[in-house]
Amino acid sequence: MTANERQQARDGRRSYFVRTYGCQMNEHDSERIAGLLEADELVAAPTMADADVIVLNTCCIRENADNKLYGQLGHLKRLKDERPEVQIAVAGCLAQKDQDLVRRRAPHVDVVFGTHNVARAAELLSDARAGGPVTEILPESGEFPSALPVRRDAQHAAWVTIQIGCDNTCAFCIVPSVRGSEVSRPFVELVDEVRGLADDGVSEVTLLGQNVNSYGRDITVSLRSAPEPQRSGDRDDAHWRAGGSWAAGRRTARPLFGDLLRAVGGVAGIERVRFTSPHPKDLRADVISAMAATREACEHLHLPLQSGSDAVLSAMHRGYTAHKYLDRLRSARAAVADLAVSTDVIVGFPGETEQDFAATLEVVAEARFDSAFTFVFSPRPGTEAAELTECFVPPPVAAERMKRLRAVVERSARLGNESRIGRIEEVLVEGRSKRDPDMLSGRTRQNRLVHFTAPAPLRAGTYALVRVRRAAAFHLGGDLVEVTRPARHRTRIPVAPR
Ligand code: SF4
Repeated sequence: MTANERQQARDGRRSYFVRTYGCQMNEHDSERIAGLLEADELVAAPTMADADVIVLNTCCIRENADNKLYGQLGHLKRLKDERPEVQIAVAGCLAQKDQDLVRRRAPHVDVVFGTHNVARAAELLSDARAGGPVTEILPESGEFPSALPVRRDAQHAAWVTIQIGCDNTCAFCIVPSVRGSEVSRPFVELVDEVRGLADDGVSEVTLLGQNVNSYGRDITVSLRSAPEPQRSGDRDDAHWRAGGSWAAGRRTARPLFGDLLRAVGGVAGIERVRFTSPHPKDLRADVISAMAATREACEHLHLPLQSGSDAVLSAMHRGYTAHKYLDRLRSARAAVADLAVSTDVIVGFPGETEQDFAATLEVVAEARFDSAFTFVFSPRPGTEAAELTECFVPPPVAAERMKRLRAVVERSARLGNESRIGRIEEVLVEGRSKRDPDMLSGRTRQNRLVHFTAPAPLRAGTYALVRVRRAAAFHLGGDLVEVTRPARHRTRIPVAPR
């Protein structure tokens, strides 16, 4: 009897497995897909081979995402031949963009659905069971994935989508075509969701969006329906009700990202607020001052640079120069003490010269990043940059530049981490260390990864003080000093629509 048969025999329910490719937005969508399937009485399968329903939630940001998907679908063809009752669904950005191609290359797929119909995942699977393969790609939707049922792996931390889509036109990026234009989620609904999460024991939230700091430009809020800041335990932060961009005496207001940050930080039980990703061109004074004024806003800023060359930034349509980027970074560091900064950099954008790359290295060195996601440019069909074939940078040149870039990032990351040796850091425990199961791992407010020893295991979600004794480029090592707040969440958040 297979593991799957054992499971079904145990509870008679079908099982599912969701594999996620790509970014945190996709991870978050996958949590919702899993939540919807559980609300439909399915149970999580331990592995893909054990599942009755397999959902591949795809990403199309990088070129090899397609290869990975079609490779995986090739393996699944064999599984489907052996067990025709297994249902395979392809969701996410690649499904949104390449629905016909997915159908042509993998006719054994039962359901193809896009980024705008996550909410219909369970229904589409059930339609396909009754009537055969289904493809449904909506051009847009009013539904935010955060408003759907959820199945979260971590019970103490949660992602909260605050906007979907993007109004920018970065030459290398496919997101605007697959996620649509920017739509902000209603302010009151967001604060309510965070309160619900806090009631469930979540203490860290990450606000998610393609361009979080342009949040709110497309919405107005009736002040009569604004959330009451005085709920027991919530901090009375008059700013987001009557001050700042919420002009006093008005019936409506336009809450911006800084207001949201303050409001979410003010929710009782929330200890840490993170957000990703802000756009450098929109990192204005109000966002920086909200970060500085909100104790719960972590001292960590992920600010994608992409390139340090003004010519390349202009070709990418990023809307800032290297000077402006560094200027905004200086303002953020001046306002927020002990701020750690991470970034994204693309190497080998079409037309990038050695001089352009040297400018990137200079900016990266000056910015003293604590970490960076570095990528070699990969052309995405449908983007402006993919058409610039005549000035593609040869792969060996890009690979050699990447090595130099990584060395510069690693130097500043190591220095940043070494400066923590001897300090006592607040760590939010994530669980046993993957490097050494006798140790625990967690993250500081600055998002530094810490592996540490403790006399006894601590539950994920515990806050602890850790003395830092060692530093490497991308992690710290230390020992537990004391637990400051035990984990508060229940073992499992029940699946229920909010
Ligand atoms: S800001 Fe640029 S890179 Fe980010 S999602 Fe929008 S278009 Fe893509």
